[in-house]
Amino acid sequence: MVSMATPVLLLLHDPSRSTGFTAADPALPVASALDLGITRGDGIFETITVIDGIPQALDAHLTRLERSAALLELPAPHLAAWREAVFAAIDAHDDAPESFIKLLYSRGIEGTDEPTGWVYMQPSGDFSAERTEGIAVVLLDRGYHSTIAETSPWLLQGAKTLSYAINRAAAREAHRRGADDVIFVSTDGYLLEGPTATVVLKLDDRFVTPDTHLGILPGTTQESIFEIAVVNGYRTAYEKLTPADLLRADAAWLVSSVRNAAPIRSVDGVPRSIDAELTESINSGLASRTS
Ligand code: PLP
Repeated sequence: MVSMATPVLLLLHDPSRSTGFTAADPALPVASALDLGITRGDGIFETITVIDGIPQALDAHLTRLERSAALLELPAPHLAAWREAVFAAIDAHDDAPESFIKLLYSRGIEGTDEPTGWVYMQPSGDFSAERTEGIAVVLLDRGYHSTIAETSPWLLQGAKTLSYAINRAAAREAHRRGADDVIFVSTDGYLLEGPTATVVLKLDDRFVTPDTHLGILPGTTQESIFEIAVVNGYRTAYEKLTPADLLRADAAWLVSSVRNAAPIRSVDGVPRSIDAELTESINSGLASRTS
């Protein structure tokens, strides 16, 4: 059951230089209509799960915020300011079994050279059906070659930008095709990522994920799953994977903060098995992270 806890919103005073924030009412308009995050989607974000008051994989999310900022040539975020805002949001938020915090960092109001930063926290939705019954995915051509990050860095593949209109359009295409989610494929035939998730396969005794050099986001949830896998005696690898690997894998998941591991039960309408027991143990491992 989703808690009705009120969202918490904090506006950072100076997100690239100093700590400090102001609490604001998320029901009231607080952003400038001239903010480049709004007018051009020119900014970055992170979404962090909070379980029992603990922001999961916070360091990995802050590191990725810094990396995305560098890719967009934004001023480096002042990580202590963001960390302070995360814990202040958690303190101000009502208890909920699972919540999430979004960190948003934009280029700011045009002409000011002052980035804007804000943080909000609210209860997560209920993902129990996806986690247990699994999801149907479709493969969609991303229209990019697997070398895109090297050949065309201006396309910002691998940065978590605010420009998610394409990701939302892909999700709508999946729904039109009767599926729940998407795995993008490169023009040369390699599995990339979902619009909001990383692909993880279990191939024999190995957990494998697409190589992050293929112009995809390095996933914090995938990283935690690999740590859990190693503790449980599995090997892990980053590789170039194909749709054939997805079909032959013993188990396959789309993994992300908030939803955690959602087992894939069909690909383009072709059923594939899910491993309910292993999925349950991965998801409880994720839920019991202490940092
Ligand atoms: N890939 C993309 C494009 C995403 O947007 C996300 C998360 O939103 C992920 C992968 C998974 O990342 P994480 O596990 O850090 O949430």
